[in-house]
Amino acid sequence: MENTLIRFTHCGRSIFSFSGPGELQCPVCQQRVRFGLLDAPVALPCPFRSGHTVPCALLIACARGPAHLAEWHDTEIHVGLSDSAGLVYNYTLSGVRRDECGWERCVCVQLGSERTPERRESWDTELERFSSLPQWAPERFAEEREFGSCCYGFALTFINHMRSLEEKESLSRDQFTGSHVLPRMKTVSLYISIYQAVLQHGFHITEAPHDV
Ligand SMILES: [Zn+2]
Repeated sequence: MENTLIRFTHCGRSIFSFSGPGELQCPVCQQRVRFGLLDAPVALPCPFRSGHTVPCALLIACARGPAHLAEWHDTEIHVGLSDSAGLVYNYTLSGVRRDECGWERCVCVQLGSERTPERRESWDTELERFSSLPQWAPERFAEEREFGSCCYGFALTFINHMRSLEEKESLSRDQFTGSHVLPRMKTVSLYISIYQAVLQHGFHITEAPHDV
C-alpha cells in the first residue's frame, strides 16, 4: 500500500484515485479535470504509521501486512505498546518482547500519556516494571489465551493500570475496544477498501461528496 490515495470532486461525485504524474481524468464524464485553488484534489492521510515513532501508544499490526487489518476479528492481529523512545513491548508465546523494529506499518492509538514529559516518564517506568511481572511469563501465555488475543489482554491491563494511577476507572475489553479501537479501525477499513478498489479499477466513485 505504497500509493498516495487522493480524492477530488467532479460530476457531483467524490472520485478517488492514486496520485500520479499525468493529468487526472474524471471516470464519470471522461473529461480531463482542471482544478481551481478551492477544489484541488486532497491527499488522504495513510492510516499506517511506524509505531517506533509514535510515543506511548497502543499499536495494532497484522502479520500478513496492514491491508489485512480490515479484518479486525482475525486472530493474526497483534498489538503492542510503544514507550517514549519507540521500543515496542508486546506479549507473545515467548513472554514480553521489546522490539526495536518490526512495527513500521501499524495503526497507532495514543491515549494521552504522551502529552507531558512527566507522563511519558511515568509510562516508561511503569511499562518496564509491568512487563517484568510474573503474570506475563511465557508459561502463562496459554492461560491468558482467551478470545485468541493474549497480546490485547496485556496491553489493556497495562492501560487500565495507568488509568488507575490517574484515578480513572478501569475499562472492560468491550468498553475499551468500542471507545478507542473500533472507531479508528472503521476509518482504517474504509481506507483499505477504497485503496483496494482503486488498485483494481484505477478509481473509485462515491455519491456523497465527503464520506472519508
Ligand atoms: Zn466528470
